[in-house]
Amino acid sequence: MRWSRYFLQTVREVPGDAEAVSHILLSRAGMIRRVAAGIYALTPLGLRSNRKTERIVREEIDRSGAHEVELPILQPRELWEESGRWARYEREELLFHLEDRKGGEYCLVPTSEEVVTTMVRSGVTSYRQLPVTLYQIRSKFRDEIRPRFGLMRGREFLMYDGYSFDADAAGLDKSYKAQDAAYRRVFQRCGLDFTVVQADSGAIGGSASEEFMVLADTGEDAVVRCANCGYGANLEKAETGRRPAPWKDETETPMAEVQTPGKGGIDDVVDYLGITASRMIKCLVYETEKGYVIALLRGDLDVNEVALKNALGVAHLALASEDKVEKATGAPVGYVGPHKLPSEVRIVADESIRDAVNAVTGAGRRDWHVAGFVQRRDMRTPEWSIFAKARVGDPCPRCGQPLDIARGIEVGHIFKLGTKYSIPLKCEYTDENGTTRPVVMGTYGIGVGRTMAAAIEQHHDADGIVWPLALAPFEIVLVSLNPSDEAVRREADAVYDALVAAGLEVFYDDRDERPGVKFKDADLIGFPIRVNVGGRALKEGNVEIVARRDRAARSAPKAEAVDAVRKLRAELAGS
Ligand code: ATP
Ligand code: MG
Repeated sequence: MRWSRYFLQTVREVPGDAEAVSHILLSRAGMIRRVAAGIYALTPLGLRSNRKTERIVREEIDRSGAHEVELPILQPRELWEESGRWARYEREELLFHLEDRKGGEYCLVPTSEEVVTTMVRSGVTSYRQLPVTLYQIRSKFRDEIRPRFGLMRGREFLMYDGYSFDADAAGLDKSYKAQDAAYRRVFQRCGLDFTVVQADSGAIGGSASEEFMVLADTGEDAVVRCANCGYGANLEKAETGRRPAPWKDETETPMAEVQTPGKGGIDDVVDYLGITASRMIKCLVYETEKGYVIALLRGDLDVNEVALKNALGVAHLALASEDKVEKATGAPVGYVGPHKLPSEVRIVADESIRDAVNAVTGAGRRDWHVAGFVQRRDMRTPEWSIFAKARVGDPCPRCGQPLDIARGIEVGHIFKLGTKYSIPLKCEYTDENGTTRPVVMGTYGIGVGRTMAAAIEQHHDADGIVWPLALAPFEIVLVSLNPSDEAVRREADAVYDALVAAGLEVFYDDRDERPGVKFKDADLIGFPIRVNVGGRALKEGNVEIVARRDRAARSAPKAEAVDAVRKLRAELAGS
């Protein structure tokens, strides 16, 4: 491909709304064009990297034994009512919905469980037809609250979505593992440094769910990891071991009220009484669809709302407003006392306050706290759970060593669904004994554009993208240093022809531009290999071959250019 005949324009300007490196570099390299918030067009160059990413996914998923299908993007509301998902997606405001001329309602698909399940429902009747895994790689639509970071969080984005159908849990286990193995090969081939962590499986509960995370500072997720034993979890899901208790080995003292005028916040009380925040018991009042709930935890800890939601089995959870706090507990915000709660209100306590003695907490009336609070003695037994957010240095839930927290980009997700869709959608089969059973499902997703962007987050420098060989739009850029010089042009053409004839993937920068401009563009776009033809090297009968990743240059006689490029390519492919 010759640049002079290609549709490609690099740009100097950084897009106004760009926060992530991948967004900036994909735009500047002329690979993507913004159409609207979270909606992008791919240029020919952008499409090449996108297709390569897609191809890697397809090859590895095909190898795992799954079959490709094509499911509609436009889906009728009725189907989504059958599964009960329409309301949930509407509530989360993620669904793009539209009407046809007759008033029929549709959505643009955010993920395709309903359609694929009905496809299997109408085809599978017997256990002999199971297992089966179906997949597609197609656009998905979500009206994200905050579309941003270019391809990483779009409102229209390319996603691999796979669905496994098994006769039982043991079968699902196998299908899930096959996806896990395929994912690992995909991200390895994409040149990504990734980690697999436990993820929240939401209100469905119980089932396993794991996320493939690419560690990068711009990641929107927080990933908790233990360097000692390898435990890893999304912060939303992360548990911790028991934190050392500040009241360890203390003997109980009587509870006594202390005046704390105007000191409603934890920090105020801590300063005023000269204690540590870990000595306090925090009482938070939440509103849920099942009524008010009081959550108790140690004063130095924060609530992990996803964990609390799961513990309570609720879909909606929000801190109650000041007047609602009073209504629910009889005490003003900041002074709620665990021992003064109305008997009908639900209390859930985090393990961090179990067996607390001599703690400080609200007195149940304005401007007063109590000291010497003993959890077992002074309050009614709560529901126990673990919902405090993990912090750096907290003990690992498995081995007790200190945990670390890093930022991660979720590039893929594997999820054991069980019968969540097969029961409402009546996707059933008959087993060996003639009994009708619901099919056991798994669901799997990879963000193709997000994976491509994550590769850039991990592989770039001050001058631009440093594509992993597998995802580069072209592996090689050939730069003619002085195309207006007829002799140089002829030599460069000859090298180009030789590279193409050798089956190498080369982009020929034959534009009438200064070498400096061409090098800048080559570095920005991030071709792994650059071949320079011209200048002193050419006078000596050589071409120069430069690796993008470390800019190491080597020269080779022009007749041996192909071999030298092949050698460097092999090196890059191996690393
Ligand atoms: P997130 O938590 O980032 O919103 P999700 O958990 O809702 O993602 P899934 O439903 O698990 O996403 O989708 C499978 C994969 O699709 C994700 O792992 C991610 O790689 C990709 N993906 C999800 N949402 C987007 C988006 N808005 N833009 C680009 N890729 C996305
Ligand atoms: Mg996910």
